[in-house]
Amino acid sequence: MISYKYSQYLSKSNDKMFDELYEPGQSTPHSGIYRCEGCGKEATSVLTHPLPPQNHHVHTPSQGQIRWRLAVWG
Ligand SMILES: [Zn+2]
Repeated sequence: MISYKYSQYLSKSNDKMFDELYEPGQSTPHSGIYRCEGCGKEATSVLTHPLPPQNHHVHTPSQGQIRWRLAVWG
């Protein structure tokens, strides 16, 4: 779970970039913190660098493939 202390440093956004799922290893479309849709594990990634690969962490069969969703942009 991603945590913060001072809410004045964050702002709420309804941008569609938070709705999209991104493939492991693809070029990072927005710098920030990503959350795996399968298990909730988080990873930080920087614009144009590859998102963490499929072997970043192990899933059970029911968790499926790693798919990254942007959780915090910035
Ligand atoms: Zn995962």
